[in-house]
Amino acid sequence: MRVLVLLGPPGAGKGTQAKVLAHELGILHLASGDLFRAEIAAGTPFGREAKTYLDRGALVPDELTVRMIVDRLSQPDAQAGVVFDGFPRTGPQAEALDAALAKRGTRVEHAIYLDVPTEELVRRLSSRWLCPEGHVYNTMANPPRVPGECDHDGKKLIQRDDDRPETVRARLAQQLAPLYEVVDHYREQGNLSVIDGTQPIPAVSADILRLLRVGDRAA
Ligand code: ADP
Ligand code: ADP
Repeated sequence: MRVLVLLGPPGAGKGTQAKVLAHELGILHLASGDLFRAEIAAGTPFGREAKTYLDRGALVPDELTVRMIVDRLSQPDAQAGVVFDGFPRTGPQAEALDAALAKRGTRVEHAIYLDVPTEELVRRLSSRWLCPEGHVYNTMANPPRVPGECDHDGKKLIQRDDDRPETVRARLAQQLAPLYEVVDHYREQGNLSVIDGTQPIPAVSADILRLLRVGDRAA
């Protein structure tokens, strides 16, 4: 099982790049935010609980988050490999992931941090539009061919409730300190790479793929 982790603050480009990597490498894109939103849309008790955190821009407690991820990791479509997007987001989540992977005889191969300054994050999130299937657009940097419609499936694009400016500020205020714990965790393990996430989307993808190919040769 090949395991990659994409790290970065909200709006850094994790979802955008995770889609490219999953496609290029034939592995599963596993986004904790997408799993929470699916539970919320399905109206499950778990989704109702998660929603109280997402609405405030707060992190969902580690125990709930880890349980959801470990369950998903056990499913057949995850066995070839996984690119994590948005998980882990705290030191304890990073430790729980290490333990879950150790049980499967594997470990995180690369943790890739997409480095983007805060002012740019706020700009990107306020102009982010998504299709209900998760394809990501940006009205400034990555617009759809037809305004308001997904290039892939023609579905109507929507904005996320938590991309409103006040929730974006709450997310940045609450989620950066724990994220830096995760960065330190992988730096100590020696598998952290930092990529300049301010470059155009294809240049960021090229940097990541170059890094992985070098990793392949060294392995
Ligand atoms: P973004 O991609 O903009 O960073 P996500 O879709 O990853 O946002 O996450 C949306 C929300 O879901 C977060 O603001 C948080 O409330 C919750 N969430 C996602 N991943 C985690 C996680 N690993 N731990 C705790 N909460 C999470
Ligand atoms: P995350 O999952 O880290 O929150 P996304 O992949 O959803 O980030 O990207 C956030 C927004 O920024 C989206 O509107 C996306 O189209 C846009 N975006 C992603 N990467 C770049 C980039 N390299 N340059 C400019 N805009 C980008």
